[in-house]
Amino acid sequence: MDEGFYGVHIIQAPQVRWYPIVYRVRRIRVQQNTCECQPVVYEFCSAGGLYFVRKHDRRGPTPIMAETAWIIREQAESVWLAFVADSRRRRC
Ligand SMILES: [Zn+2]
Repeated sequence: MDEGFYGVHIIQAPQVRWYPIVYRVRRIRVQQNTCECQPVVYEFCSAGGLYFVRKHDRRGPTPIMAETAWIIREQAESVWLAFVADSRRRRC
């Protein structure tokens, strides 16, 4: 999929419960992500048959990573849709 220079820019992220990153599996696949130009980047990830959203918060001096609970695909997709629902796909 050619997205050019257009990225997903979140306007208002939903309130979800965040957990510290736990490295449970070696390989995590990023299915979708919001635009890297933003101070907070969200990724829709899969690993070991489960799905979750990971957050990279680069607003402070030290980047903070966190993730939602690891859940089945159907549930996680609705969580991810809540993130991208209030977003614009636009040029940076
Ligand atoms: Zn951008």
